[in-house]
Amino acid sequence: MKPLIDTHERQIKYVRISVTDRCNFRCRYCMPEGGVEWIPHEKIMRYEEFLRLLKVCIPRGVGKVRITGGEPLVRKGLTAFIESAKRIEGLKELSLTINGVMLSSMASGLKRAGLDRVNISLDTLDKEKFSFITRVNAYDKTMAGIKAALEYGFSPVKINVVAIRGFNDDEISAFADLTRNKPIEVRFIELMPMGCAAKYGDHEVISSPEIIRIIEDNYGELEPVEYLHGPADVFRIKGAQGKIGLISAMSETSFCSRCNRIRITADGHLRPCLFSDDQLDLLTPMRKGINDKDLEALIEEGVRMKPQSHGMCIGNPASQPQGCETLMSSIGG
Ligand code: SAM
Ligand code: SF4
Repeated sequence: MKPLIDTHERQIKYVRISVTDRCNFRCRYCMPEGGVEWIPHEKIMRYEEFLRLLKVCIPRGVGKVRITGGEPLVRKGLTAFIESAKRIEGLKELSLTINGVMLSSMASGLKRAGLDRVNISLDTLDKEKFSFITRVNAYDKTMAGIKAALEYGFSPVKINVVAIRGFNDDEISAFADLTRNKPIEVRFIELMPMGCAAKYGDHEVISSPEIIRIIEDNYGELEPVEYLHGPADVFRIKGAQGKIGLISAMSETSFCSRCNRIRITADGHLRPCLFSDDQLDLLTPMRKGINDKDLEALIEEGVRMKPQSHGMCIGNPASQPQGCETLMSSIGG
């Protein structure tokens, strides 16, 4: 096996695919209220096209695939797609990032299809604040989705919380508390200033060290959990069943050195870095009949485009122009 290695010696082991840019929520930091101009259907990757890309990447050492969006569960046929992807030899883990609102009715089918894990986004435990941030009155359904994820044994269930000063800084301890008696990993994500969130400044970002301080003030010193792969630093409250993860995209300068991923957008572009608008079109050559060998070479080229670092750390205004304009919903987070 010849691994996919970028020009900064990072091996690509993880592919995130965005299967749709559409969503049934309008989270304020992610999408405008009126939605966006959706990518026309004919320009959206077909499932068999995603499978073809995965069949090229997985033998090159990609063990983990995450399906994201938009909201992946709104796309028809997702369960069957998951079943097909799971059959690809060499795939170790297939997971889904969702807002959870449709999960309770789909969880059993997804489990049967072989889905390994889910991350569910939930930025508040308060019903009214939930309607405010998502612009949809769906708190109960989302909570039912989280319950279903636990019942169907998608382990561990991860809850993604985007930490925003003035919105949910008063709930950090309550989120941490969820991990004490349930096998949940709560992951605090630093707000990233892109797309709709470009309106937020450094001030609204609650950095991971600050989050740790707030939790430790209430629960005592956190225990580090060994967690070698991926962007999160993981901790545990002493004696807790679950874990606490911190995604320090904006405050930790070593964040990028751990980056082992590429992204495929819903319209078939390889995106080497979440924070850069640089991307490589794979869909057009695929529809023009490119052979597998040349497609593999194109993917290698996309991997070589990965920048060493996004350079947008908090308090680094000099590098702001490198920020990206694309909406998070069209890349998949
Ligand atoms: N709709 C699904 C969901 O909400 O989980 C999947 C797509 S969403 C774009 C993926 C993740 O990106 C979510 O956890 C969301 O909260 C996060 N996200 C979106 N915009 C963000 C931003 N500006 N900064 C940090 N995280 C963001
Ligand atoms: Fe939709 Fe997820 Fe973006 Fe919210 S964060 S608008 S649920 S894509």
